[in-house]
Amino acid sequence: MKLKFWLCVAPFAFFVACHCPTPSRSHADKPTMTLTEFQAKAAKFNDVITLPDYETTPEAVNHSFKTSIATADAALDKLGKLGPSQVTFANTVGALDTIMLPPSVTANRLNLVKETSPKAAVREAATDALKKFSEWAVGLEYREDIYAAVKAFADQQPKLTGEEAKLLDETMRDYRRAGLSLPKGERDEVERMRKELANLTTDFESNINKARGPVTFTRAELDGVPDAFLVQEGIKTGDDEYTLYANITFHYLMVLENAKREDTRRKFQIVHDSLAKEANGPLLKQILELRDQIARKLGYASWADYEIEPKMAKNSATAMQFLENLKKGLQPKLDGELALFREMKAKETGNPDAQIYLWDWRYYANELKKEKYNVDAEQLRVFFPLDQTLQGMLDIYQKIFGVTFQQVAPPAKWVDDLQLWAVSDSQTGEPLGMFYLDLFPRDGKYNHFAVFGIIEGKQLDDGRYQRPTVAMVCNFPPPQPGQPSLMAHDEVVTLFHEFGHVMHAMLTRARFARFSGSNVERDFVEAPSQMLENWAWDKTVLDTFAADYRDPSRKIPGAILDQLRAAELATKGTWYRRQLSFGLLDLALHSQVRAGSGVDPIQLSNQILSDTLLPVPEDSSFVTYFGHLMHYDAGYYGYAWADVIAADMASVFENSPGGYFDVATGLKLRNEIYAVGGSRPPQESIEKFLGRPQSNEPFLKKTGLATE
Ligand SMILES: [Zn+2]
Repeated sequence: MKLKFWLCVAPFAFFVACHCPTPSRSHADKPTMTLTEFQAKAAKFNDVITLPDYETTPEAVNHSFKTSIATADAALDKLGKLGPSQVTFANTVGALDTIMLPPSVTANRLNLVKETSPKAAVREAATDALKKFSEWAVGLEYREDIYAAVKAFADQQPKLTGEEAKLLDETMRDYRRAGLSLPKGERDEVERMRKELANLTTDFESNINKARGPVTFTRAELDGVPDAFLVQEGIKTGDDEYTLYANITFHYLMVLENAKREDTRRKFQIVHDSLAKEANGPLLKQILELRDQIARKLGYASWADYEIEPKMAKNSATAMQFLENLKKGLQPKLDGELALFREMKAKETGNPDAQIYLWDWRYYANELKKEKYNVDAEQLRVFFPLDQTLQGMLDIYQKIFGVTFQQVAPPAKWVDDLQLWAVSDSQTGEPLGMFYLDLFPRDGKYNHFAVFGIIEGKQLDDGRYQRPTVAMVCNFPPPQPGQPSLMAHDEVVTLFHEFGHVMHAMLTRARFARFSGSNVERDFVEAPSQMLENWAWDKTVLDTFAADYRDPSRKIPGAILDQLRAAELATKGTWYRRQLSFGLLDLALHSQVRAGSGVDPIQLSNQILSDTLLPVPEDSSFVTYFGHLMHYDAGYYGYAWADVIAADMASVFENSPGGYFDVATGLKLRNEIYAVGGSRPPQESIEKFLGRPQSNEPFLKKTGLATE
C-alpha cells in the first residue's frame, strides 16, 4: 500500500513563512452548485462522488485507523481461507484491489490530516497511525495464506488480457520481489536483511540531519555576500566574525554564489562536501553491500536492477545508457559554458591562466546572470494576483482537457478559506471528481506545494465507478493590507505543474485502484506535469490572464520573460551535467559495490563527479551527505528520464495548429495518458500520444544544444 502523495522534485518549491495577520482574503467562496446536486448528477452516470471525513481529534484518527484495519483484516482472512479449487480472478487479485481501497483511502486521508490539520495533537496522532499503517502493510506482504490463494490462481495460468493481466503480473511480481517465492529459510533471511536495511538507512538519514558545518569568516573574507543576509540573527557572532553553516543550503548557496574570494568559496565547499563523512562513510558501504546481497538473493544481478525492474527503464543497463548518452550530448554545451566562466575568472583575477574549479561555477553562473541578463524575477509578481492567476489557469485546463470546474461549498473545512471544486466532462456533463485547494501557509502545515490523493478512482463491484478526490496543498504568499496575494513567476510554473497531477487523478478511467490516475511508473509520473510547466513560460498563455493588478491594461513584458529564460539556458549545461553526475553515481554505487569487491563508495563517487562536472576537492565525500541515496536509490536517473519525455510530449502541442491551446492534442493527452493511468505500459501510452516513437531531440533542443 503506497500513499498517494507526490513531493514534486521541481526545484522551485518555496516556503513562505506565515506570521502575518490575515487581512480579508478576497476570494471568498463563490459556490455555483451544492455537493448534493453534484452527487445526484453522478448517480445518473452510474458514478459515485464521495468526500472524505476529515478527522479533527486524536480519538477520531485512532478510531478511523482501527476500524479500517479491522474491516480489511476480516476480508483478508476470508480470502486467505480459499482452497485451490475455489480461486478465481475476482476473489483473489480482484478482491485484493477492492479490499485495499478503504484502508488506502484512510491512510491517504490521514496523510493529508498529518500535513494540514491546524491542531498539533491531531497531526501527531495521524503520524503515529501512519507508522502503524505501514507496519501493517509490510506484514500483509508476508501473509502466507493470501500469497497461497493468489498463487493458486496464478498457477492455473489463466488467459487474461489488458488490465486484468497486468494486475495479476504485478501482484505476483511484488510477491517475488518481497521474497515470497523463495524457500522459507531464505525468505526469512530476506525479511531479516530488509529490517536491518531499514534501520541502517534511518541512521544514515539521521546522521545527515545531525551534521553541522560551522565556518567563521571575517567581513573581508565574505566580500560580495549581501549585507542583508549577514546581519541576520545568529550569523554575526563577533565584532568581525560571521558564522555560517555549510549544512544549511541557504548559507551554502549564498557563499558559493556571491563570495568574491576564491579561498572563501573553496573552504566552504570542502566543509560542505565532507559533511557526515565519519558517521556515514562506513555506514554507506554497509548499506550498499546489504542491498546488493538482498538483490542477489532475490535473483537480480544488482540492487539497481532490482529497483529499476518495476519502472519504465526496466533495468540498470538501460538507465545507465540513457544517462551516458545525455552526458555525451551535453558535452559541447558544458565546454562552452566552462570556457565562458574561465574567461570571466581570468578577467576578474587578472590571471590569464585561471582555471575553473568546483567551487567556482556557481559564482560565475550568478555573475553571468546579473551582468548579461539583468534578471529580476521579482518585478513579475504584480502580473500574478492569486485569484486571477488561479482562474486563468483553470480556464486553460478547462479548454484543453474538455472539462468544466465549478466551485462547491465544502460541507466540512479544516481551514476557513478552503476551496472545493467539482470537475465535470464539458461535453456530456458527467461528474469526474473533486479537488480541494488549501492555498496559504500556516503553522504546522506542509511547507511546499504538492497534490495529495485521497480517494482513488475504481470500478466498484456493483458496477458503479468511484470517482476520485484529491487535495492540492499550496503555500502562496498571503494577501497583505492593501495588496492581494501576488505570486512569483516560479510559483505560477509550480501551479501549472501541480495542477497536472490533479488532472491525472480526475480524468482516470482505470478499472482498478492500483492503476488509477497517477499510479504509474515512478520514472514516468512527473513527465506530464513537467510538460505543463511550459505553459507558464508562454506569453500567449500568460496573456490570457496575467495583467498588472494596479492597471489591468498592462500585460506581461515579453522581454522580461525572454531574459529569464535566456539566463536559465545560459548555464543549463553545467546545471544538468551536475544532475547527471548524481544519477550516474547512484547507478554505479548500486551496481558495483558488493562485499569483497574492494570498491570504495566514496572513491567511486568522487571519480564520477570529477569526470562528469569538475574535479572534486581531495578527501571530500559528497555522497555521505547525499540523502537521495536512501529513498531514491537507483532512481535518481528518473528526473532526467521524465524531463526527456516531457519535452517530447510538449513538442506535440508546439507543432499543432492551436499550440498550447490545441484541443485535439489535449483530448489525446486526456485519453492516451490520463485516462489509462497505469493500466497499460507507459511506453505504449506515450507513443500513442506522440503518434510516433519517442525522441530525445526536443529535450536536447530545449537544453540549448545545436542539433542537426
Ligand atoms: Zn510533480
